[in-house]
Amino acid sequence: MPDAPRPRPVLRCPICRRVAAEATRPFCSERCAQVDLGRWLTESYAIPAAPPEQTED
Ligand SMILES: [Zn+2]
Repeated sequence: MPDAPRPRPVLRCPICRRVAAEATRPFCSERCAQVDLGRWLTESYAIPAAPPEQTED
């Protein structure tokens, strides 16, 4: 039984809305993946989970 070609849903890059590349899904490129990672890190830094411990010296 031959495998029927499955229509794959087209993923769009959440950063620039271009069609995602296979290697960097769901992003269109390594660059956009880095942008997304940067955003995520920025957001997590923006939310203070706990105040930094003060070291007594
Ligand atoms: Zn992109």
